[in-house]
Amino acid sequence: LPELPEVETVRRGLEALYVGRRLLSLEVSGRRTVRRHPPQLLDRLAGSVLVGASRHGKYLLLRWNGRRALVVHLRMSGQLRVAEPRSPLAPHTHAVFRFVDAPELRFVDPRTFGELFLAGAGRPLPAELSHLGTDALQAGVADVAAITRGRKAPLKALLTDQQLIAGVGNIYADEVCFSAGLRPDRPAGSLSQGEVRRLAVSLGRVLEAAIAAGGSTLADRRYLDVQGAAGSYQLEHKVYGRAGHACLRCGGVVQKLKIGAKSAYACLNCQR
Ligand SMILES: [Zn+2]
Repeated sequence: LPELPEVETVRRGLEALYVGRRLLSLEVSGRRTVRRHPPQLLDRLAGSVLVGASRHGKYLLLRWNGRRALVVHLRMSGQLRVAEPRSPLAPHTHAVFRFVDAPELRFVDPRTFGELFLAGAGRPLPAELSHLGTDALQAGVADVAAITRGRKAPLKALLTDQQLIAGVGNIYADEVCFSAGLRPDRPAGSLSQGEVRRLAVSLGRVLEAAIAAGGSTLADRRYLDVQGAAGSYQLEHKVYGRAGHACLRCGGVVQKLKIGAKSAYACLNCQR
């Protein structure tokens, strides 16, 4: 499912096409797509101009003039797709944004876990997103030190806990741990200062590289960018989904570890 690099790629696509454009209408047909408030509230956005497209963790935040913010969470299978108005609706299209002088934007979501909701205009984040930790792309050594210090929980559990650090899921937690040479099942509090620094550097490096590659599109093709293009970072995965294959660094065998209810891919030769 989409993690920070995929959502950031979508954000950049939205920013390029829609910021500065006026919304004509937003039509919602999916019953579960708007579930935190009556869907009619979204009618208030008609006539507004999109003034910014930002992101925190895996959440997109569309800010409109008139101090309104629309949050989009793609979850498992949500996609925002650019479409020409006369093109047929794809199956599972649950919302359609119509703009002045811009193509339609459609929210397509087969699993219907994704959602849209109006939020307050609070800065930097509306109250509805205040439970989220630091955005993983902004997290520095001090942030990583703060979330790991004194913790018994395994590294993977902390890296994927959105309330501690927002944006990392299964794929990038495993890739970051490999890049840092750290086992994903290491108790987080056991990291030395040097290891914390390595983890912070790897976090930034892996996420930046994944964004540059347009994110990871797996075989299920649940993630595509706004133009329907796949990302290519899946071709650069070192451990994720590679159990039984040779480690690209040492030639050992990549393992799939059980960490509580989660699993993680790692090379136990390269990661300590
Ligand atoms: Zn290795």
